[in-house]
Amino acid sequence: MERERITMKKIYLDYNATTPVLPEIFEAIKPYLTSKWGNPSSSHWAGEGLKEDIEKSRIKIAKSLNCQPEEIFFTSCGTESNNWVLKSVCGFNLKNKHIITTKVEHKAVLETLKYLEKNGLEVTYLKVDKNGLINLNELEDSIKKNTILISIIFANNETGVISPIKKIGEIAKKYKVLFHTDAVQAYGKIKIDLQKLKIDFLSISGHKVYAPKGIGALYIRKGIKLDPLLHGGGQEKGLRSGTENMIGIIALGKSAEIIINDFSSGYFEKLKKLKDKLENELKKIDNIIIAGENVSRVPNTINISFKNIEAQALRKALNYEGIAVSSGSACSTDKEAISHVLEAMGYDKITGLAAIRISLGKFTTEEDIQYTAEKIKYWVERLRSFLPNG
Ligand code: PLP
Repeated sequence: MERERITMKKIYLDYNATTPVLPEIFEAIKPYLTSKWGNPSSSHWAGEGLKEDIEKSRIKIAKSLNCQPEEIFFTSCGTESNNWVLKSVCGFNLKNKHIITTKVEHKAVLETLKYLEKNGLEVTYLKVDKNGLINLNELEDSIKKNTILISIIFANNETGVISPIKKIGEIAKKYKVLFHTDAVQAYGKIKIDLQKLKIDFLSISGHKVYAPKGIGALYIRKGIKLDPLLHGGGQEKGLRSGTENMIGIIALGKSAEIIINDFSSGYFEKLKKLKDKLENELKKIDNIIIAGENVSRVPNTINISFKNIEAQALRKALNYEGIAVSSGSACSTDKEAISHVLEAMGYDKITGLAAIRISLGKFTTEEDIQYTAEKIKYWVERLRSFLPNG
């Protein structure tokens, strides 16, 4: 058990790991925990209106992505959405099939591909440059006659770096290869307009956008046939069976409504201003590296390495101060290993293990930023002073 102060402040700066449920989302789902508890497939009073409520949510999500409601399918999480695409595009016969991805995907893509690889799939893992970006010529050169899918992350969960999704889509179309993007960390942080992007499949997750855990969605472009991952009662047009998660679906619909409002409310700009403020304060510390500093990133994420500091020690010190940040990805279990994302970006082990991820969100205030900057400066100096030559 890590030490905690008794009367401490609580500042949450790990919104890329998960988000709290917003009060308005909680209000929207309450009836589905009390009076509207029925099965949406029931044709008696208990199920009445629930299918319609599901469709209303679908419409909102479609609107937030600028696609058709019939192109949205509910899943249980981002991991499921990713698994569904990768496994179903391949089918059972994996021989002579090729998928292109990158070395900086989330484990929900990498581990699924590793599993498929063991069973005969051929996978190309594109390298990235020091900013975390792929080389588009290399992508084009990697496409072969048997390439069935390109799967590339929209915005990286550890660094926030945004992939050149528009150009990747154009390349995929030129060669008639399907294109999937894991947009779990992009949705709700930047505007995604599916009419302007040549994306065939896109994964999102509710708990990254202030809905509860246990809901996700997959966009499947109209006209593309994808085999179901789950068979059963035929929900979601027979493509994703299982009694619908009403709470999750209503919550994700409400999230979408909030995201649509965020497009025009100045929320993204406000978030970026706060992030830039913190980043500028942290840049005053000597010997730091900010991942993807000079390329396009989502407006809430800073991945910063402090030379000669162990990120775990800094994370624990900040936790003691009431500040929640992460060292590496929250899903990573091996705390001694450098993150595969930073490694792919050319970080050596010491620099990689010195990286913390700070991710801002709806409840982040100027005061939080000020306090966090002060505490980070204090602890980096203190931890460095313990070094032999400190
Ligand atoms: N993809 C990315 C980029 C993520 O950041 C995450 C979660 O951290 C996932 C997929 C998995 O999403 P979920 O937790 O909904 O399964």
